[in-house]
Amino acid sequence: MSRFGRREREDKSELTRPRCPHCRELFAPPRQVSTMLGFFDGGKCSCGAVFVYDASGKNMGEAFMDALAYACGEDWDMAKSLEASVDYKEDYLNYRELNHTVSPAHRSDNPRETCGNLVFVKILGNKAKNGE
Ligand SMILES: [Zn+2]
Repeated sequence: MSRFGRREREDKSELTRPRCPHCRELFAPPRQVSTMLGFFDGGKCSCGAVFVYDASGKNMGEAFMDALAYACGEDWDMAKSLEASVDYKEDYLNYRELNHTVSPAHRSDNPRETCGNLVFVKILGNKAKNGE
């Protein structure tokens, strides 16, 4: 008999760990990253994936563009020439800054209407400038 009620299962806490969707490495809390045009809150994973955090979750289109451009080494021409799912992959998460955990973002049919507040962009294949 349990005196403390239901405890969180371990696989559940594993699900909320802040892992890169591409290489499954744990990522660091978002910090301010300076770019040529300004700055964003986010960071870069060792696999080359870039993430951008928007606390409000309301400017994910902008956050996505920041992530994509930064992943392209701030080469906006390159960023604009890339094709979704072919040249890059985007993943949305719900990030909780308070305890540095994530939960999967609900995906609607329109990928721009996800309810996440953190977007990961990974340049795929031979478009990748850094790494392999
Ligand atoms: Zn990664």
